[in-house]
Amino acid sequence: MSTKSVLGEVREVQLAIQLIHLGARLQFLESEVGLSRERLIRLYKEIKGVSPPKGLLPFSTDWYMTWLANIHSSMFYNMYQFMKTHSDEEKVWVLIKSYKLYLQQIEAQESEPILDFTRACTMVRFFDSDMLQLSTCRRCAGQFVAHAHDHKSGYVCVLCRPPSRAGKARGSKRAAGGEISVPGMESIGLAVESALDGGGLH
Ligand SMILES: [Zn+2]
Repeated sequence: MSTKSVLGEVREVQLAIQLIHLGARLQFLESEVGLSRERLIRLYKEIKGVSPPKGLLPFSTDWYMTWLANIHSSMFYNMYQFMKTHSDEEKVWVLIKSYKLYLQQIEAQESEPILDFTRACTMVRFFDSDMLQLSTCRRCAGQFVAHAHDHKSGYVCVLCRPPSRAGKARGSKRAAGGEISVPGMESIGLAVESALDGGGLH
């Protein structure tokens, strides 16, 4: 404790606060923040007013393959990749900023976030451990989250080939016309760039 600088500790607390606000689980906090478990639990209770939930982190890649989850996951991961290559910040901060940008995009579309922060972080780990990959759709050329080592040629994304029930499932929440509001994949680059220009990353 005595060797730790005060500023360093402040930074750790700030990081923990950001992560707790975004909905990070205790296991994730413990792995990313250099504070004791006791202090993290106390911080969590102060911010959320309740004890951190118990339970395991998600461990299956299948969730990311379902229709709507795949769209949201792909959008997030494209943003994350862009942020990562254009920032020299620590990975955890890139994660935080990408996730905030994702939430902004969803809000701008008057949609609801499907990918929670824990799922987003877990997905990045799946990519890092080579369990997931981005596959390029041969129809729209967009990059989408897919199982690693799937054969890439002939891949068609979930937007170009939505399941027939997808429109119905979201129909009750959307205005008439069967239009499904999906954050535009093509606008990701622009959104990220404007966030960078606006000082969102620095
Ligand atoms: Zn496509």
